[in-house]
Amino acid sequence: MHYDMIISSGLVVDGTGGKPFNADVAVEDGRIAGIGDLKNASCNRRLSAKGKCVAPGFIDAHAHDDRVLLSSPDMKCKISQGVTTVVTGNCGISLAPLRKMDPPQPLNLLGGREWYRFESAKDYATELRDNPASLNCIILVGHSTLRVGVMERLDRAATKREMLQMEKLVDEAMDAGFSGLSTGLEYPPAICASEEEVTRLAIRAAAAGGVYTTHMRNESDQVDASVEETIRVAEQARIRTVISHHKTAGRKNWGRTKETLDMIQEAQATVELNFDAYPYIASSTSLLPQFVGQSERILITWSDPHPECAGADLHDLCDEWKVSLTEAINILSPAGAVYFQMQEEDLRQVLTFPGAMIGSDGIPSDSRPHPRLWGTFPRVIGHYSRDEGLFPLEDAVARMTGNTASTFGLTDRGFIRNGMAADLVIFDPKSIIDKSDFENPIQTADGIEAVFVNGDLVYIGGESTENRPGQLIRTQV
Ligand SMILES: [Zn+2]
Repeated sequence: MHYDMIISSGLVVDGTGGKPFNADVAVEDGRIAGIGDLKNASCNRRLSAKGKCVAPGFIDAHAHDDRVLLSSPDMKCKISQGVTTVVTGNCGISLAPLRKMDPPQPLNLLGGREWYRFESAKDYATELRDNPASLNCIILVGHSTLRVGVMERLDRAATKREMLQMEKLVDEAMDAGFSGLSTGLEYPPAICASEEEVTRLAIRAAAAGGVYTTHMRNESDQVDASVEETIRVAEQARIRTVISHHKTAGRKNWGRTKETLDMIQEAQATVELNFDAYPYIASSTSLLPQFVGQSERILITWSDPHPECAGADLHDLCDEWKVSLTEAINILSPAGAVYFQMQEEDLRQVLTFPGAMIGSDGIPSDSRPHPRLWGTFPRVIGHYSRDEGLFPLEDAVARMTGNTASTFGLTDRGFIRNGMAADLVIFDPKSIIDKSDFENPIQTADGIEAVFVNGDLVYIGGESTENRPGQLIRTQV
């Protein structure tokens, strides 16, 4: 046998959660073509992975990369973690379809007016296909983006006419290669959306084989009601549903993941429901008063009027300026922040829940981003699995590969198996660790040796290559 490439003598962690095993992995024409003892096979390139792990490329279940896929197609923040596919357009925020609009919060997390230039979902999908990035992407259409584009006022539910327009836009997005619908019901553009509005749009996505992801209406005091609403939408629309970045935020709600995870587990008997989570007790999004009240500590990640405040503690700014929290928010806005608002024990319950997925929720446009943007995946493996013993290595890997591929209906990724796309990461299980932290958030992780996307090398020795083999992937659920 002759292959394009053989990765020899690695410890294969195949994405199923099963015990790792020693094997060579062969790649031919962008696909995995052989697994086993291949020392007698010939190849154009042989790479030794002795002492290292070979795993399916990680899938970031929750991303906000719509713009950065085009503006920084090397996607170093993700490939340097071993990520080979991102699911983007989450939290109701997608770059398309929306044109000539100064984007309101939180749509501006993706970029300013100059980036909201895609009249149709198809225009955006075409630009992505014409200018591929280093890694693959799955795109969701954002409910808030639709609302901002279609509705004259956002402080009410959609009218009949607006509903029809939004339904048509969901259909068009699905036709263009999008994979479903996302909502961000906690954010101003969607707070007034009714459950019926969301359900009807989810029905359109489901009709075209899509999924539904939701940043729920509330993740703190009313988190239980929000989980119930999510389950009802999943039931009514008969759509595979993902709760985004699951948490119970605010000191009062610490410990409540016991309650929410029981609800999710019970619902799983009748609906297709899963969630993603990131491995940190701090969240990050727009600087908005509703998140400030439930946080122990708040760090500014960016500010339009005061860029020099990125990295500053909001309470320190209040002291320095001798103003109230509300006044400080007004002075800094539009702005973004990191919010310390979760409990470590809740995070561990969420991370270890059977079948759960890892998603970074990283925000690439922030000048001082939350460290999850550069650190999520190596942190789960290095910190939580190896150092803390939260779960075995193969379980950690399944949460960022096989579980995610199964949830999103990726039929040929997420596992090391013959015929699968050759999205692969070679990492050192002894040294893999996140280096980004809240003080220095832009740091590549240690221990990621080489990353392949569709068989092409995109990252090696700490540097990205010139290859741009990324594909726009459509889920098949
Ligand atoms: Zn969100």
